[in-house]
Amino acid sequence: MYPWLSGQEQQLTALIRQQQLGHALLLKGVEGIGKRALAAALAQALLCQHTNVADNKQGVACIHCHSCQLIKAGNHPDLHVIGGQQQRSIGVDAIRQLTQVLSESARLGHGKVAIIEQADKMTEAAANALLKTLEEPAGEATLLLTSAHPERLLPTIRSRCQQWLLPVPESDVVLRWLSGLGLESNLAALNVNQGSPLGTRDYLAAGTDKRRRELLQQFGQLAQLPQTLTSVQSGLLEQPVHLLWLQLLLQDALQLALGLSSTGLRLADSEDLCRALSQRGPEKLRQALTSLLQLRQILQPGAGRPVNAGLQLGQWLNDWLINIS
Ligand SMILES: [Zn+2]
Repeated sequence: MYPWLSGQEQQLTALIRQQQLGHALLLKGVEGIGKRALAAALAQALLCQHTNVADNKQGVACIHCHSCQLIKAGNHPDLHVIGGQQQRSIGVDAIRQLTQVLSESARLGHGKVAIIEQADKMTEAAANALLKTLEEPAGEATLLLTSAHPERLLPTIRSRCQQWLLPVPESDVVLRWLSGLGLESNLAALNVNQGSPLGTRDYLAAGTDKRRRELLQQFGQLAQLPQTLTSVQSGLLEQPVHLLWLQLLLQDALQLALGLSSTGLRLADSEDLCRALSQRGPEKLRQALTSLLQLRQILQPGAGRPVNAGLQLGQWLNDWLINIS
């Protein structure tokens, strides 16, 4: 288990051992915190044939029993997983199929477990179909729901689940874990990934941290090198998160422009750049930030009418150049 989740796993498996885990658990936590791994571990603990024996003080799965072996092989007949990253939405048919299967008796006689990953992707019809099962749990079935956006779930779904919030892990725990993976990490990388450990891992492994520093450096030199405007513009448009990088940079610059201390800078590895930008003064930075926030808002996928992102950002960059000249 990931180091920041091992305490959570122990608490939850203790509940399983004491038979105090409800029939539906909602694991809430930011994207990339490891909800899937935790749900899988809990499913195994629930289905393991040795979890409840008296000498098993931890309630953890044994790894050796028939049930654990089937899980390892990926074909346990009483474990059902739906949802997840690959799916745009979870439809009513998938939920109906699942509830049907859960109503049948367990093949191995040790209960049934269903994992619904990214449960907030359920359509309204799907959520309503699930409600019935949540109200009248079918036999020995346990439902494990995961969500990074629990506010998008029907309130009736949330209220029928035992809710379990996984807190954003301490940064030093994550940084230690990342360096254990051989990845050169820093707090700024974690901040641009909003504290998400697995998100930061993928970001570092893809070499994206270098790209961030390059792009922001290029942005910082725009006034001296206005001919790079097009390349800065296309760089910022590559991924929606690139505008977040820019936002954090300007926020840091504003913090310095206001004469506040440099501790707590989000992009501490770009302090020189922030300091240079802070010379523009708090007023101009605040203006630029306000319009950047608006820009991010309207460029959000699903924010309504389609907008020409290139045009909008080009306008913002032109305003910035005029602003700072
Ligand atoms: Zn076992």
